[in-house]
Order: sequence, then structure tokens, then C-alpha cells
Amino acid sequence: MAYDIPLFNLNFDEKEAKAAYETIKSGWISTGPKCAELEQMFVDMWKVKYAVSVTNCTDALHLCCLACGVGPGDEVLCPSLTFAASANCIRYAGATPVFCDIVGPDHINIDPEDVKKKITPKTKAIVVVHMAGYPAKMDEIMAIAKEHNLKVIEDACHGPLSEYKGKKLGTIGDCAAFSFFSNKNISTGEGGMFISNNEELANRARLMRSHGMTTMSYQRASGHATAYDIVELGYNFRLDDIRASIAIEQLKKLPGDLEKRILVRKRYVENLSKIKGVVVPFADCTEFTSNYIMPVVLTQGTKEDRDAIREKIHAAGIQTSVHYPAIHKFSIYKDYGAVLPQTEYVTDHEITLPMYAALTMEQVDFICETVNKAING
Ligand SMILES: *Cc1c(COP(=O)(O)O)cnc(C)c1O
Repeated sequence: MAYDIPLFNLNFDEKEAKAAYETIKSGWISTGPKCAELEQMFVDMWKVKYAVSVTNCTDALHLCCLACGVGPGDEVLCPSLTFAASANCIRYAGATPVFCDIVGPDHINIDPEDVKKKITPKTKAIVVVHMAGYPAKMDEIMAIAKEHNLKVIEDACHGPLSEYKGKKLGTIGDCAAFSFFSNKNISTGEGGMFISNNEELANRARLMRSHGMTTMSYQRASGHATAYDIVELGYNFRLDDIRASIAIEQLKKLPGDLEKRILVRKRYVENLSKIKGVVVPFADCTEFTSNYIMPVVLTQGTKEDRDAIREKIHAAGIQTSVHYPAIHKFSIYKDYGAVLPQTEYVTDHEITLPMYAALTMEQVDFICETVNKAING
């Protein structure tokens, strides 16, 4: 069934099609000038020193772990209320994820108090996720990291251009990962970005992105290099110029898109604050944020009640989702023995409502009325 109001819609027009067409006609379609241009846009817009384009955010996170020196025998702290890639990346590097709880329904990011409790002599790094584009408690996290000599990896997939105390998310920790998957704020189908202010980490990410090779095909094709050595067991995590050219158009649109999302969010918060039985996470946050998704958390009932409420909302033609099924509940993580009461509450009571720039105020009002009826009859 196609929903009248989907969860997300692409902010695409002729510009993306034209950009892809022109790259195809240019004769160079793999990693080249368009990837370099996109990386430079990240450097300029994020005020960060280094940006390395990659195939997707999962690979960017993998590179973050490798760049930070995460390896076998290490433990890495991470939330469970996130997409599986935030924890899987730790295992790709041979280390063990240790799941931490979130603060609670009104702040669904990793809890610095639980982070402190889970530090052991083996702890190497912390993966922080900025849910919905709302900043985690970074002052506290960075202080803990400094005290215990831990690296901080920001999974900033939800938060392109989001801010925390004057800094862009992704520029606070040691390195960060962004996604250009179809339903993210910047959409190219598949794609991602690694960023860092640390030259050593960025060099290592760039090397491991392309087989540990010392030069790239484009450098050789353009006469800047004639040979290469392979100095590490790397991967092929390269983005191509076709998708980079689409990402460039998406990035140009992003500031305007986010301004519209702010108005949508404001209308939601106004309406939802009058509805009994729902909490809006981060309702008191005054930072500039990307508003990647619109999560709400029910204050009572069971998981089954939540699912029944979602069904009623769907019956009115409105798509919803759940962010997220907790990772520690998946089959491949059941032996990790994590007990996370706040995460378990939110994963069973959360509903994600539609969020995109083109949503009208009438649609937001209709969604909120429908939510109210579904919860309160
Ligand atoms: C989407 C997402 C990812 C994975 O991104 P891909 O580009 O699809 O690999 C990782 N972490 C979070 C929090 C995400 O939302």
C-alpha cells in the first residue's frame, strides 16, 4: 500500500539528474574530480580539515575504527538504540561492542553516566550517535574520553550541519561518519563521508579506503603518478563521481531544506505538546539541527499497544517507523548480555512520524490529530 503521507520523500529535481548526466558524459565516472569537489564542500561547510568520500556510512564507520586503532582485544562503547552499523563496525575491526544505555525518553542519546560505568582497562573508544540529528551530551563524553584516554567516533549520519555549542556535529570527536543513503538528509542512493581534524587519522582512512594503495587511478590517468605500492591490507570503499555529483547538488540544497524542516518540527512540537501520553525527545533543545526524523515516545502501554497505535495511524494513510529496534535484542547480539532499561523502554514505545521539507502545516496538523485519536480515542 502506498501511503498518502510517506515517512520521507526525496528532495530531488532536474539538478540531480543533470549533474549525473554531465558526469557520465565527462568520460570519468569513478573516484575523481567530483569526489574531490564534494570532499572540499564538506571541508568548507563543516570547517573541518579533512574529508574522505566513501561508499556508505557503514564503511566510513569501519574506517573510523581502523583510523582510531581499534583492533582485536579492544572494547568499544556504543549505544544500542541505533542502526546496527554503529555496532557492527566495531566488530569489523576485530573489537567487541559494549552497549550503553540512553539517558531516557526525552534524551534518546547515549548516557555519559552509563559510559563511565562500562569503562574497563580494555576500553579503546566510544561510538556516539546523534539521534534524529540532536547532539549527544558531548561535553560530558569528551571529558570522560580525555580522562580515560579514549577515542571518540561520531556516527553523525542523522546530523549533517547540526550544531552543538557552536561546533558542527562530526567535528567534536576524533573522527566522524556521514551517510548519503536514499532516506538521509543528503541522498545519493548509497554513499558516505569520513571527516576528521586529525591528519594522521585522515591519511589512514584515505589509504584504507582504496586497498592501502599509495596512488589513485585518477592521479595516474591525469599524469600525476605512474606507479603505486600497496602498504596495508585495505578495502575498496571508494565513492564514484556519478554519485558524488548528485551529492554536490544535495549539499547545495541542504541549508534551505533544513530551514523548512525546522518549521515542520516546530509545528509538530506545538501540536504534540497538547496531546496526552506522548513525549517528544529533545523538545527543549535550542541548537540548530538537521531534524532527520521525528521521533515520539509513548508514556504508557505495552509494545503491543504501540504497534496497535501505529496500525491506526497507517490506516489513516500515514507511514510511521520505529527508530530503532534495539541492537542488543537482535539474534547476533543476544549473547552480549546487555541490560539497558531506558533503551528497552524507548524501543518498545517509540513511533517515528513523517519528516521532510515538503510536508505542509496542514499535513502536520492532520498527522498530530490522527496520533491523538489513535492514542486517546
Ligand atoms: C543510516 C545509518 C547508518 C548506515 O549508513 P549507510 O550509509 O546505509 O551505510 C549508520 N548509522 C546510523 C545511525 C544510520 O542512521
